[in-house]
Amino acid sequence: MGEHLDADGFAPLRIKRVVRETSDAVSLVLDVPHHCSGRFRYQAGQFLTLRVTLDGRDLRRCYSMSSAPVEDELRITVKRDPGGLVSNWLNDTASEGVELLVAPPEGRFLLRDNHRGIVAFAGGSGITPIMSLIRTALATSVRPIRLFYANRSRDSVIFADTLSRLVDRHADRLTLTQHFDDDGGIVTPTAVESFVAAAGPADYYICGPGPFMDTVESAVRKSGVPRERIHLERFQVTQAPADAVAAEADVTTDEVVIELDRTTTAAPYRAGNTLLQTARTAGLRAPSSCETGSCGTCMARIVSGSARMLNNDALDDDEVAEGWVLTCQSLPTSRTVHVVYE
Ligand SMILES: Cc1cc2nc3c(=O)[nH]c(=O)nc-3n(C[C@H](O)[C@H](O)[C@H](O)COP(=O)(O)OP(=O)(O)OC[C@H]3O[C@@H](n4cnc5c(N)ncnc54)[C@H](O)[C@@H]3O)c2cc1C
Repeated sequence: MGEHLDADGFAPLRIKRVVRETSDAVSLVLDVPHHCSGRFRYQAGQFLTLRVTLDGRDLRRCYSMSSAPVEDELRITVKRDPGGLVSNWLNDTASEGVELLVAPPEGRFLLRDNHRGIVAFAGGSGITPIMSLIRTALATSVRPIRLFYANRSRDSVIFADTLSRLVDRHADRLTLTQHFDDDGGIVTPTAVESFVAAAGPADYYICGPGPFMDTVESAVRKSGVPRERIHLERFQVTQAPADAVAAEADVTTDEVVIELDRTTTAAPYRAGNTLLQTARTAGLRAPSSCETGSCGTCMARIVSGSARMLNNDALDDDEVAEGWVLTCQSLPTSRTVHVVYE
């Protein structure tokens, strides 16, 4: 860990500015002290991890940058999750001058370096990383960009004014299609397919609530877009219950051998646990962040044995073929598994 981060990898950053975007979303501009600036340099599409203590509970949550590296600020945007602890606490209490514990940027939901167009689908708070990607693509390329932005209603649209200014300024290459559930229901596969049909060859970026992502991803794939051009950022994953997954496995795993920081630990395996949970149960400080299979922070390589990933939005086929797994999503499928964090 860098000298300016604590033992768990967090640094105190002061809130420089609070922007109330809508009644249920707030943007926080964070002040990065000069001595931390290197650690907090980021790429469009990445996120920060916040660590907060609420009622004595240590909670960690990821928030994507809504700012772009070309802007001179580090900004996250947090939408209230009904019943959610951290998002509501931030919306209710965040104020200028308050310090938050923040881990440096991570994530692989990044602009791929090519000349293809960009087609983005954002649902609700999913606009956050998409905003960063769009601003960056507008500033650093001539790529055409089409954004499909879905919200429940007009008053829940985050960045409505900023987007309409961007569209005015870049009318030749940025188009915005908005969808409002209260005009006639949620986004349908047909709407997605016709949006895709109107786009040329493009890279696809999708971020939003789970059911929105499922609809969009399957309609985009059905439209014939190759998998490697579809990039997903999941804020939450609905995982199969661990005991159901464990019951599916043909073999019982006894042990997971974990190499981390040049130490090898043989950890007993408890059915239903992921490799990451197994490492934690053995007292190891294995790297992790989003725990949705998006960021790649927890990746490690299986050198013997096997595991099955519940969700993988971070590793490409070549990496998987080389044995890389996302340990937060991996359930062992062999009697022993030997995994190496590199
Ligand atoms: C890579 C990544 C990037 C992200 N970027 C953003 C972003 O830019 N902006 C943003 O707003 N969010 C973002 N998120 C989501 C964010 O990290 C949080 O998940 C979100 O703010 C909810 O956290 P919370 O503490 O408010 O809710 P939590 O307290 O975690 O609760 C989440 C939901 O689960 C329900 N729940 C909690 N406990 C139970 C229970 N026992 N039984 C049933 N239901 C329960 C709650 O009611 C709530 O609806 C991102 C997530 C990831 C992984």
